[in-house]
Amino acid sequence: MKNLKSLALVAVMAIATVMSAFAKDKPDVYILATGGTIAGTGASAVASGYTAGQVAIESLISAVPHLRDLANITGEQIVSIGSQDMNDQVWLTLAKRINELLASDDIDGIVITHGTDTMEETAYFLNLTVHSNKPVVLTGAMRPSTALSADGPLNLYNAVATAASPSAKDRGVMVVMNGLILGAHGTQKMNTLSVQTFQDPDGGPLGYVYNSEPRWNLCTLKKHTTQSVFDVTNLDVLPKVGIVYSYSNVDADVMSPFLNPANGYQGVIHAGVGNGNIHKNIFPALDQARAQGIAVVRSSRLPTGPTTLYDEVDDEAHQFVASWELNPQKARVLLMLGLTKTHDWKELQKYFDEY
Ligand code: ASP
Repeated sequence: MKNLKSLALVAVMAIATVMSAFAKDKPDVYILATGGTIAGTGASAVASGYTAGQVAIESLISAVPHLRDLANITGEQIVSIGSQDMNDQVWLTLAKRINELLASDDIDGIVITHGTDTMEETAYFLNLTVHSNKPVVLTGAMRPSTALSADGPLNLYNAVATAASPSAKDRGVMVVMNGLILGAHGTQKMNTLSVQTFQDPDGGPLGYVYNSEPRWNLCTLKKHTTQSVFDVTNLDVLPKVGIVYSYSNVDADVMSPFLNPANGYQGVIHAGVGNGNIHKNIFPALDQARAQGIAVVRSSRLPTGPTTLYDEVDDEAHQFVASWELNPQKARVLLMLGLTKTHDWKELQKYFDEY
């Protein structure tokens, strides 16, 4: 009996030794690079003037050797652009590539380096189209890589620290900038120059990175990633949706491009005043859009607060959708994806209620 027990013990220890030989020493984080100021270079370290998207991912990684203390790192260049030039094709490529990578047991998390101008839109698009609970983190920089006190290296380090952490699972796609961890649904670029530009003015940050580890305060109740119904696997193009911006004395002719069938718009986001309110000059053109089968979503040009249903506008009567907390550029993302599923305005409203 005693012999049997010691035999079993030896067997268990042998299995444990073999397993630990195969166990990972560190998480595997895959970095997808798209350009932006984090990869930007300028002639001067102290004066303005630089070009985004000049430095390849290999150089960004080798500039921060501390990344290797956090994770095994692999880098891949998707595109090298300023994110002012972001487009649907890059979004589709990113979503498909991330889904493919995260399906593998070999990858624990993804970091995307990205320009800050449209980072919130890409983050929200991926939040709805990546179907994995593993961490996906976007980061970038406000100062080019050649600047004094460039913020890119620490942002990349904090993004990898977050993507490498098992505690970052199930939180949806995140933006990590200047020490904060922000959820894709609420984060916005708020300042044209400051390194503290990304904020979630209504919801607050999910957490922050301290001593190479994410620390968490909040989690979102909005649907994302594994709960999302939106699937772009077999899509090569997205429905065309544009944004019309309102102001005093706005003329109805700003709606003309949307109403011209040759332009192929399937949806329009109205960036309204106040709580998504609509100038009387433009109201008939939005009704005309509905009559032509174009989806109309009311959002607001204000940076905070929801655009609510049935306040000063009778949405039911006009078949308009209210964007709730989504700003116009993120409402555009959700409407594009919503229109891959339905053109029924009530069904579209449900997406805006849930996502
Ligand atoms: N224009 C740049 C971009 O979005 C700005 C930045 O990255 O901060 O690519």
